[in-house]
Amino acid sequence: MLKSLESRIVNELFDLREAGRHRSLHSTVVRGARMWLESKEVLHFSSNDYLALSFDHRVREAAQAASHEYGAGATGSRLISGNHPEIEGLEAELASWHGAEASLVFSSGYAANVGVLSALVRSDDVVFSDELNHASLIDGCRMTRARVVVYRHADVQHLEQLMRETPCRGQRFVVSDAVFSMDGDIAPIAELIEIARLFEAVVILDDAHGVGMLGRRGAGTLENFGIVNVDDIVYIGTLSKALGAEGGYVAGRKILIEYLVNRARSFIFSTGLSPMVASSARKARSIAELEDWRRQKVLSLSSALRTSLQQLGYVVRGGETPIVPVIVGDEHSSLTISRHLMSYGIYVPAIRPPSVPEGKCRLRFSLTAAHEMTDVRLVIDVLKDWKPSR
Ligand code: PMP
Repeated sequence: MLKSLESRIVNELFDLREAGRHRSLHSTVVRGARMWLESKEVLHFSSNDYLALSFDHRVREAAQAASHEYGAGATGSRLISGNHPEIEGLEAELASWHGAEASLVFSSGYAANVGVLSALVRSDDVVFSDELNHASLIDGCRMTRARVVVYRHADVQHLEQLMRETPCRGQRFVVSDAVFSMDGDIAPIAELIEIARLFEAVVILDDAHGVGMLGRRGAGTLENFGIVNVDDIVYIGTLSKALGAEGGYVAGRKILIEYLVNRARSFIFSTGLSPMVASSARKARSIAELEDWRRQKVLSLSSALRTSLQQLGYVVRGGETPIVPVIVGDEHSSLTISRHLMSYGIYVPAIRPPSVPEGKCRLRFSLTAAHEMTDVRLVIDVLKDWKPSR
């Protein structure tokens, strides 16, 4: 490596360490509510496999059969040789689940978000973006060269005021997570849609954490709110959370999908999803649609955890979702409390900047259908007696 580049990297890593922001990878094997962290078995509250489908035997059998039949990978990008019938089947099922005309699968939720934004938004457009939107939406906005106006989190009045004040020669877009990953709350979607209509803005919704998890059939946040007309919305979901697989997708009008096939660079220049993964996602999706008990179980566990922690005096964020963030404040305290839980064999990640704003460090509990009430009680017992040593 060139000396000049190496010294730049060394200095930056040093600064990260000095600031307590240096991160490193740990080896993890997750199976339901158990995790082997550097080979040590722990109870964990850290995965997005909300419905516990990643290790479901039917999902694994689907993956096994597909890999046996079709091999490990798609072998090419979708427009060349990687458009496998398993992916097309998955897209048809996703579209019908969401009541959309069509859908398009990307290799990840991240790729879907940056692909959609960079393809749809032009430089004379204006994007109105919630301040707590996921990094992939922020990165997608940065790729557009359009003006990005950030509104206060879930504050529809602020959004409306900014929309009135901001001139726009092109198209307006309102971009929001449907469920906020670090706060666990749900966006005021009906109001966002209403304001967007007033200004003829297009709503782009990232429902990564709502897909499979919310709504009676698990069709996500729109179903949860009884919003049936998805034609006006650019709806983005992932296969990587409640569906336990990987990949992202967009559901909407046929013409939108046709456009993205031709214009979304993260779609065009990337290998198609593995047929094995597509097949697992299809199985997981059909289970998610039918087995409502999984959603009910996770939601009742997360609600029990949230209420008990609040009763103990903790500041807990979030809504009717499996994400239960406990706001701790500074980095030191959040790491200390995370380590304290770890000493009881419970892994809950401490979330720090840049994932959350300065001073808003937190423990982020995420629950799954593989957890039991005894697991929740264990956490409450440990946190009941925890006294920060400052
Ligand atoms: N959107 C949100 C809100 C997310 O939380 C995530 C993943 N953390 C993504 C998009 C990206 O999805 P994927 O992991 O499938 O790339």
